[in-house]
Amino acid sequence: VKIKIVDIPVPITIGPAFEGETIRKKDAWVEFGGGRSTSFELVRMVGVDEVEDGKIEVIGPEIDEMPEGSVFPLGFMIDIYGRKMQEDFEGVLERRIHYNLNYGEGLWHVAQRNMMWVRIGKNAHAAGFKIRDFGEILIAKFKSDFPAIIDRVQVTIITDKDVIEDKIKIAIEKYATRDARLKDLTDDVETYYSCLLCQSFAPNHVCVVSPERLGLCGAVSWLDAKASNEINPLGPNQPIEKGECLDAEKGQWKNLNDFIYANSHNTVEAVNFYTLMEYPMTSCGCFEAIMAILPMCNGVMITTREHGGDTPCGMTFSALAGTCGGGMQTPGFMGLGRRYITSKKFIKADGGLARLVWMPKELKEFLGQDLIDAAVDQGLGADFVDKIADETVGTTEDEILPFLEEKQHPALTLDPMM
Ligand code: SF4
Ligand code: ZN
Repeated sequence: VKIKIVDIPVPITIGPAFEGETIRKKDAWVEFGGGRSTSFELVRMVGVDEVEDGKIEVIGPEIDEMPEGSVFPLGFMIDIYGRKMQEDFEGVLERRIHYNLNYGEGLWHVAQRNMMWVRIGKNAHAAGFKIRDFGEILIAKFKSDFPAIIDRVQVTIITDKDVIEDKIKIAIEKYATRDARLKDLTDDVETYYSCLLCQSFAPNHVCVVSPERLGLCGAVSWLDAKASNEINPLGPNQPIEKGECLDAEKGQWKNLNDFIYANSHNTVEAVNFYTLMEYPMTSCGCFEAIMAILPMCNGVMITTREHGGDTPCGMTFSALAGTCGGGMQTPGFMGLGRRYITSKKFIKADGGLARLVWMPKELKEFLGQDLIDAAVDQGLGADFVDKIADETVGTTEDEILPFLEEKQHPALTLDPMM
């Protein structure tokens, strides 16, 4: 990512040096989202008359009304008008919120959409940072990074707990429309897209995004990568013709391997798209969820960034992230976007959804009907979801195995994983 230095009227320093900065809970003045409160971020294309260029509005409390250590809701609505703007660009621009806010000293942003999780550090609060300054950063960065497509931009920031419950509906509808556009596309297309955005902190990490497998951050779909390449042909998302298929079952293609090898600085020689067990895709650090093998259960488990608790593989999300992040390829472990779980291509070579034996309750609820539909689609029946254990059943393999046996979970009768 090329960073242009722009003058932004905020009391903190903005620069790539702060991108990797983590703000721990004890160092946060206030935090938003991450399962603790409602949050969302939305970039919308609007008509020329629907936006007042440069306008920032805060609906709800400013930071002066937020006590130390408090939790508030947070919504960003970014309205953009541009003669060359397209609806397809919304998701791409929305992902930039993550990068742009993380450039702020004392600001921390993870995840995306209505999973967004933000902290303002005590240092930023002491420097005089205001909620409204989020708007200053976003407007300045959007205008300087995308002058060709953005003519006018305004930002509405919501911290009011009633207003946000209303506005988030607009966002959720938008996300659903975007996801629906992807539903008719399959991995049979000839061209996949790379994403190298995370190389700024995981230098050998390469995501390759296909129609049925979004980037592990959950924020870059194949359509987003395609749109991003249209906006910036020399940018982080490059089209790659798959070329010769080396393994149809596991999902390995010659040209993808070559691209990944070259762009991982000759560290990753091959990637299989549809298995966890051999040459899985590398994981940077911003995956929404992580999958791990459970040998005793002959299946896999998935835990999420939002789920802080223990899991049957013996590690929490952060312990898993520490073991498998940074752009490494670790067979048996892999970062993934939440919505990849309901894809027809979800670890297809390992048996697909039938392998999934444990996930947090919240993730089941998040995927909802899509998970049931995917189970039916894969011939597992609508009651398959009830056969997947969660933290209320147990957090060790010993605890969940009797449940899986009782429910006759299909993983138990599949071929051995190892
Ligand atoms: Fe791109 Fe992958 Fe990083 Fe998402 S996780 S921004 S797809 S490199
Ligand atoms: Zn990443």
